[in-house]
Amino acid sequence: MTSESAVHPPAPAASKFLPGPVLLLGAPGVGKGTQAQRLMADFGIPQISTGDILRDNIARGTELGRAAKGLMDQGQLVPDEMVNDMVKARLEQTDVERGYILDGYPRTLGQAEWLDRFLSLSDEKSPLVAINIQVDEQELLRRITGRRICPVCKTIYNIYSKPPKHSGVCDNEGSPLQHRSDDTENAFIERMKAYNSLTAPVIEHYSKQGRFRDVVGYRPVEEVTAFIESALRELRKAGE
Ligand SMILES: [Zn+2]
Repeated sequence: MTSESAVHPPAPAASKFLPGPVLLLGAPGVGKGTQAQRLMADFGIPQISTGDILRDNIARGTELGRAAKGLMDQGQLVPDEMVNDMVKARLEQTDVERGYILDGYPRTLGQAEWLDRFLSLSDEKSPLVAINIQVDEQELLRRITGRRICPVCKTIYNIYSKPPKHSGVCDNEGSPLQHRSDDTENAFIERMKAYNSLTAPVIEHYSKQGRFRDVVGYRPVEEVTAFIESALRELRKAGE
């Protein structure tokens, strides 16, 4: 404490709120990545994406990366144990001390149970809390099947919510817009099935322990962030 801090009143407690370890859940297309970026900026804590860690290990050719790539090349899932090891190594770095945002992990009940054990053995005092960004499936379907991309300038349009001025062509240079092959209704239904079957037990796991909140995801981005931050404050208050 310097003498200066006695002159200036301390910042309000609200701005010092730190959410601790946070898990962001949500179906493909709900805007999880965008929200994770915004929370990182607001709280100054890192985002931990197992997808990014995996790609990084593969790019660097680590033992883990080579093993994971071998499995993925054969069309197999990377087993929980391997993903858990990656997360363990990441959580041993010092920048996670004030909290972090897990994105895409834990994806299975086995991973969630492993993480609980790992955190209970570590110095981490706040338990992980889970936020599920919810968007109606019909709305998600429109977001995904309506998506059109300009192959030249990479602008993303949506024929329902953000159509180009002239149907089928880019506003910027008039290139014909493309529809990605995995942006179809069938591909969406398959992805939702996989997501729901893997994630439902994860949601139940945190919800049973009172460490879970649903947040409405079909509002403007800033509003969704505000919902998430107020849910985090509630969850931390309840756990005190
Ligand atoms: Zn364009």
